[in-house]
Amino acid sequence: MSPAPDTDEYEATVGSERESVDAGTVESLAVTGERCAVDVTPATDEFRLALAGDNNSVRVRGSDETVVLDCTGDRNSLALGEEMALQRERDEGEANSISRERFETEREPDLVRTTRDEAYASLGWFGVDLVSYQTSVERDHCRYCGHDAERVIERREEKVLSVFGLQFTLGTVASSDECSFCREPADTGVNLSDRERREIYR
Ligand SMILES: [Zn+2]
Repeated sequence: MSPAPDTDEYEATVGSERESVDAGTVESLAVTGERCAVDVTPATDEFRLALAGDNNSVRVRGSDETVVLDCTGDRNSLALGEEMALQRERDEGEANSISRERFETEREPDLVRTTRDEAYASLGWFGVDLVSYQTSVERDHCRYCGHDAERVIERREEKVLSVFGLQFTLGTVASSDECSFCREPADTGVNLSDRERREIYR
């Protein structure tokens, strides 16, 4: 019998029986339990996975990472993201199987964070405002960064006049393509912050 991997070397361990476990986003995982359904997302390009238990079903929800596999268990089924690489460090188990899956939600984060309706809904009853929003466009080429992309959205700024809560679009001030290659980090808004504006005019 092979020595079990030292679970202290792994960030997370699933050692239970007949459980469904989401191990979260981790750099390494050891599965020592039996008959568990385990979901995990790699937090690093070289994700280490130990399969020491038996009859488990493990899904690694990655995109282009490498799985470094230490397998001593039997009859486990392992599902990897379609384009992930597999490196077998040790392969001593029996009747284990590996399949490929496409994890759509992980691969295509939604680019649209503020829709037109949401932007207009935030306007007051009177005044002229500049609203910023994002909208999907039918293009497979991003005119902002030049990449071919599966999804391209347009970022638009419009000048809007509000009178008694009725809104009239006076015109498009600016528009710009955005795709997954040049997308803004999710924690920055579409607009400049007040602090940023003050620094410009100082
Ligand atoms: Zn782009």
